[in-house]
Amino acid sequence: ATPTALMAASGRGAQLGIFLKGYQALESTRAIDTVVFDKTGTVTSGRMSLVDVSCADDVDRAEVLRLAGALEEASEHAVAAAIGSAARTELGELPQVERFTNEPGLGAAGVVDAHEVLAGRAKLFTERGLGIPPELDRQREQWEQQGRTTVVIGCDGRVLAVLALADLVKPSAERAVRELHRLGLRTVLLTGDNAATASAVAGEVGIEETIAEVLPGEKVDVVRGLQSEGRAVAVVGDGVNDAPALATADLGLAVVAGTDVAIKAADLILVREDLTAAPDAIKLARGTLRTIR
Ligand code: ADP
Ligand code: MG
Repeated sequence: ATPTALMAASGRGAQLGIFLKGYQALESTRAIDTVVFDKTGTVTSGRMSLVDVSCADDVDRAEVLRLAGALEEASEHAVAAAIGSAARTELGELPQVERFTNEPGLGAAGVVDAHEVLAGRAKLFTERGLGIPPELDRQREQWEQQGRTTVVIGCDGRVLAVLALADLVKPSAERAVRELHRLGLRTVLLTGDNAATASAVAGEVGIEETIAEVLPGEKVDVVRGLQSEGRAVAVVGDGVNDAPALATADLGLAVVAGTDVAIKAADLILVREDLTAAPDAIKLARGTLRTIR
């Protein structure tokens, strides 16, 4: 009976935009009690835009955009793409960056026009002993409480500005979370972004718990921690960052705008950008296994 039921489930799944990687995926789906969502690109669209710039007193906005834009054009992060394209739109050609280095989960550094430029989370600056001027830091906190992702820009050991980026939550996210709660599941938002932004986004879509400021390499430890509390964990993710967490989870669900790496690590592939594919997958698994037994 099992192969027939699996075929039926696969057919039904395909109609729903859900691709199963075999029977085990159904078994794992049934047992899940906690769903962990990655934030950027999963709960949010991941298409960020630069919405505000706040500069230190004697600093020119165009100069900040020129340095930050040149640096971020070398990075593949969604945050960096937004800064690079805003700078290009406003200023046209940008200088080349040299000695670019990526700081995973924190930011980026490089040399632009012989200046050492640094862009990233506040933590990247405090770790290097670079203070953020109080008025810029207050602005940063205010933006984060509004759910903005903020990026601090430094040049030659001095903080020049703070940028605010907006990333809309997917219209389907709130419905998906409500449906998961109705199915008796707990929800968690896991992100490398700061705690205030994470809470604002979680609040917007109804996710119960947030685990923020987690470096890419630490996401696996968070999943293992939840598992060691006896929870059966599904991870819903998209990016290269999430691949190890998807593989460690009891069930990995990749939303398909995602990369090949994430897809290899996943048990279920959701080809609908619509997040209600996640509760649909759980209902499908429960229904199929009920038929078999
Ligand atoms: P998420 O969990 O939201 O997908 P990441 O772990 O990829 O996030 O990154 C965490 C945070 O690090 C981002 O929200 C951003 O603030 C910062 N960051 C990462 N890369 C860059 C970059 N190139 N420039 C500026 N900030 C960055
Ligand atoms: Mg991500």
